[in-house]
Formats: sequence, C-alpha cells, structure tokens
Amino acid sequence: MQTETIPFLNLEPLHRALEGELMGVFQNALRTGRFIGGPMVEKFEASFADFCTTRHAVAVNSGTDAMRLAIIASGIRRGDVVMTVPNTFIATTEAISQAGAYPEFIDIDEKTYNLDPRGLVAFLEHRCVRNRRTGALIHKASGRPVRGVVPVHLYGQMADMEAILDIAAVYGLIVIEDACQAHGASYYSAKRASYRKAGAVGRAAAFSFYPGKNLGALGDGGAVTTDDDALAAAVRMLRDHGQSRKYYHEMEGYNGRLDAIQAGLLSVKLGYLDHWNDLRRKCAHYYNQLFSGVEHIVTPYEPAWSRGVYHLYVIRARERDRLQNYLSGRGIGTGLHYPVPLHLQKAYAKRNYRPGDFPVCEKIAGELLSLPMFPDLTADAQRIVAGAVADFMAAG
Ligand SMILES: *Cc1c(COP(=O)(O)O)cnc(C)c1O
Repeated sequence: MQTETIPFLNLEPLHRALEGELMGVFQNALRTGRFIGGPMVEKFEASFADFCTTRHAVAVNSGTDAMRLAIIASGIRRGDVVMTVPNTFIATTEAISQAGAYPEFIDIDEKTYNLDPRGLVAFLEHRCVRNRRTGALIHKASGRPVRGVVPVHLYGQMADMEAILDIAAVYGLIVIEDACQAHGASYYSAKRASYRKAGAVGRAAAFSFYPGKNLGALGDGGAVTTDDDALAAAVRMLRDHGQSRKYYHEMEGYNGRLDAIQAGLLSVKLGYLDHWNDLRRKCAHYYNQLFSGVEHIVTPYEPAWSRGVYHLYVIRARERDRLQNYLSGRGIGTGLHYPVPLHLQKAYAKRNYRPGDFPVCEKIAGELLSLPMFPDLTADAQRIVAGAVADFMAAG
C-alpha cells in the first residue's frame, strides 16, 4: 500500500513545536506527585471556563462522560425522552441512554447538517401531547415525558441555537449542547446583538478533548461547561464517586475525573486554540475557493450568523466511495463522518427504525466525505487535494 502523502490528520508538527512546554507539565507532575485533582486541574478548569465565557468548567474523563454527567445533573430523569440527531458519533446517544433517558431522533437540515428546528417543532407538535392535568409534554408512542434536547455542533459549526432556544422555551425543554467538535465556535445572536460561544448557550454543554479534536489532550479528556452553580456542583460530585468530601458520599457517582497531567497539557494547548482555529478557518476558505467551479460536489455551508471552527471539512460528492478510493490511491487520507446514521446501527436494532425514517440524514450519509483538515495543513497540500477531486470529477 502506498503511504499517505497527505494524511487526513497530522498533529505531529503542532506537538513538536510545543514539546518543551508539554514535557514541563509531565516533569511538574512527577516532582509534585499530584496526578489526580490539584492545581493543574483547577487552573485548566478556570481557563477553559474563561475561554467558553461560562461561570464553570468541570473537567472529566472524556466527552462521553461530560455528556452523561451533564444530562444526569441537569434534572433530566430516568425514562425521559431526550431528542438529538441521527448523524452524530454514537457517544451522544450512549450518554443519553446511560444517563437513564431515552433518545429520539430529529432529522437534520440539508444545508448545515445540524438539527433542523422545523423537524424539532414537527416532532413536538405531532408526536407529543400535553397531559391535560399536569401540563407535562408526553411522547405519544412511548408515554414518556419529553424533557430535553441535545443539539450537536457537528463538524465545528453550531446548530441553529437561536431557533432551538426559542422552541425549548415554548416547550419547557432542557438544552444540553454536544460541543465535542466545536471548541471556540460561535454564532451571532440577533436577539442579544452579540456573538455567543459554543458551550455557553444551553443549560450545560459537553466538550471532548480526544486527541483529534480542535483542543485535544494526549489521551482522553472532556469537560462540562455551565453557568448553573448547582449543576456544576453536581457534576463535580458525580465525577468523583458522589463525594462532597473524601469518603462522604451524597450519592453513587462515577470515576470520571480528568488526570492532572492531561489538564496541564490541555492548559498549554488552550493558549494556542484561537490561533489554530483561525488556521482551520483559513484552510476552509481556501478549499472553498479551490472548489468553486468544480462540479458534482457541495462545499460546506456556513450561514451568515455562524462562525465555525472546522473540526472537519466535509464535502458532499457524487460517487463518494469511488472518489474516496481514488484519493486514497493518490496518497490522500479522508474520513467518513458518519457512514451509517445512528438509527440504522445494529446497536439500535431493537428500536425498529427503517430506512427512510430520517431521509435527509440517510441521503447525506452516502455522499459526505471529510477531507484533510488540521492547523498545519499547507496550501500546497490543499491544492493537491482539490486538484485530485477535480480530476476525478472531470473524468466522470
Ligand atoms: C468525540 C465526540 C464525542 C465523545 O467524546 P469522547 O471524548 O471520545 O468520549 C461525543 N460527541 C461528538 C459529536 C464527538 O465528536
């Protein structure tokens, strides 16, 4: 097999440039012996909260933990319906289910690939009913209370939060953002006449620091952000066996803490995140320029109100599988995010979904292709990628 000349993701140069600073974190942990909790975790939490413009950031083991603990701490109860999209990483729905709630899917918008607010309203209007006595919103098919919605800011672009927040207010829904791909993304709120940042919009938000994310640890990590003091306190307890202080347990919790070393490494990298996100946006704009005039592909759509951070640069292409093979033959790495919508995964076979249930998501799943995207991607490499895509399309 030919080695990749242009990898899908290459973080090596970025880490090499920071090697001294990163090694310093490890040395500090070795010398102080603080591996769990302590000042490195607290410092990272304070600076990440600052970055997200929230009162709190609570560092945890992974994005999946962040999502699960945020849902539990938000007051969503066992058996409640929580709505989300079928084109996301399965961690979103795992977290909902493992928090004891019940995921229901809403189809996506064909242009942004994020939750379609019209689909959300349609679900709430036609598939749910208000209990006349209690006023609670009930999902007709399952009889379950409908309590939450998890918009996913997919590929680094925020969902249409202005619309989603309005709908949530009308129906009394708790909004938890899946911001695992959107560190630093923002949208312009016409209502507030200001930009609002991912992680600062819902009741709480989940971030992942998986190495490949825009802000990545050198291992697993995650965080919950929120302005809600009680929710933050609950997540702090839940991540540490439900302890309020050592060996005094208010509840059963989890082992969901972030290692001090990872927190220290993340603090170093957080200082560069805005710069890296700017580089990603530049790369995205250059791709857009290179692809203008190339037929049979659709480049990412960024609404005027959105400022995305391009965790991924995802095009839609005719004959996607053949194109992916062709690029691979030319040494260009690509990815599929995601090839099988969640409702059609074996993991949800018991739910009896059928092809056609979420037509927009299903159609796009067969067309999407993630091209190389990372802060150190060069203009030369981008020209080679775009040239290869254009050659393939021209050959028909
Ligand atoms: C990465 C990711 C997660 C899970 O994060 P982990 O840190 O891998 O647990 C959840 N949702 C989305 C959309 C993600 O991309």
